[in-house]
Amino acid sequence: MKIFNLFKNKKNVINKKYIPYGKHHINKSDIEAIVSVLKSDYLTQGPIIEIFEREISKKVESNYAIAVNSATSALHIACLALGLKKGEYLWTSSITFVASANCGRYCGAEVDFIDIDQNSGLISIENLKSKLKKAKLENKLPKIIIPVHLAGSSCDMKEIFKLSKIYGFSIIEDASHAIGGGYENQPVGNCKYSDISIFSFHPVKIITTAEGGVAVTNNKVYAQKMMDLRSHFIIKDSERFIEKNTPDWRYEMQELGFNYRMNDIQAALGLSQLKRLDNIVMRRNKIYQKYKSLLKGSPLEFLEVPKNVYSSFHLVIVKLHESKNYKSVFNGMRENGIGVQLHYWPVHLQPYYKNLGFGEGDFVEAEKYAKRSFSLPVYPELKDKDIEITSKLLKNLLN
Ligand SMILES: *Cc1c(COP(=O)(O)O)cnc(C)c1O
Repeated sequence: MKIFNLFKNKKNVINKKYIPYGKHHINKSDIEAIVSVLKSDYLTQGPIIEIFEREISKKVESNYAIAVNSATSALHIACLALGLKKGEYLWTSSITFVASANCGRYCGAEVDFIDIDQNSGLISIENLKSKLKKAKLENKLPKIIIPVHLAGSSCDMKEIFKLSKIYGFSIIEDASHAIGGGYENQPVGNCKYSDISIFSFHPVKIITTAEGGVAVTNNKVYAQKMMDLRSHFIIKDSERFIEKNTPDWRYEMQELGFNYRMNDIQAALGLSQLKRLDNIVMRRNKIYQKYKSLLKGSPLEFLEVPKNVYSSFHLVIVKLHESKNYKSVFNGMRENGIGVQLHYWPVHLQPYYKNLGFGEGDFVEAEKYAKRSFSLPVYPELKDKDIEITSKLLKNLLN
């Protein structure tokens, strides 16, 4: 994070300490869990990973969970499990972290974007519908669509699922922000309306394994494929050998896999963190409510949370009214030690994607959103006083 301009005008600081936009939470049990792995027989590929996977499955109500070394890896093997190939299309939101799009490129696929709904920041169902109609006529329908649960709010999965039945695409939910959240009174990631969901355990996310991620699914074939892909596609079970005369003390590498494994130290941390998930998400909801009441009447809007959604509030995003000077407010917050952050600059405007032919004006709602919005600090240990300081500063800057 770029912090060189923090506290630039030291004279008029309201806030004396640096408040980042997000921060991991580590307690004594987390540390003990890690130490106990360090003292055990296994650092990698030990027994804790399976326990962690089982607990994740229980929590999100999916049949299978495959823990990996990052959500980016989870997205990659999810695309491969769904058979994404060179020349095929993958669509995702333009307002997301770059990994939601890059996984398509790893498979040699063409990536395209879906414009967002200005109120929620989530993919616009209207835009998706018309884009699908057009793609059908042009014979360019996507193989995979990746809805992104921005800030922790689930997309309208029921609608997207309906469209997948009409147009024949697969769905990966990028739920990197959304563990512990709900959609229609069910846990986000249960794959009721998707093929695979992925979560991130990067330290800024809801719970952490330092680096790490998980792919969950209810489909046995996808689960097996992802398990094989994360570990070199080396098969040790002789019943699965392709060559029938291979003796059962050997192993077979059957396809091109990767080393995307999570280790036991990470899994132990994740398992310990998972126990606090509900409390963490509740605290994040409280922080959001407090910001909302303190900033009531200010010339800004909070991202709208859809009616049937319980957000995990990985992010609390505000959009300034168009009359306001974004740059001066954003910099004013930073100069006073509040680490506001833009989530996200549209992926289609990143130089890499511009080189593939995308440009300014391609997804106007996403571009409009990105020029008005930023994230306020939200993490379990954020004090009520910090929320008050942040809100007061923001109000001052908006006046
Ligand atoms: C963080 C994030 C990822 C990638 O997560 P890693 O675990 O860092 O690889 C993917 N998608 C979204 C939306 C994210 O926020």
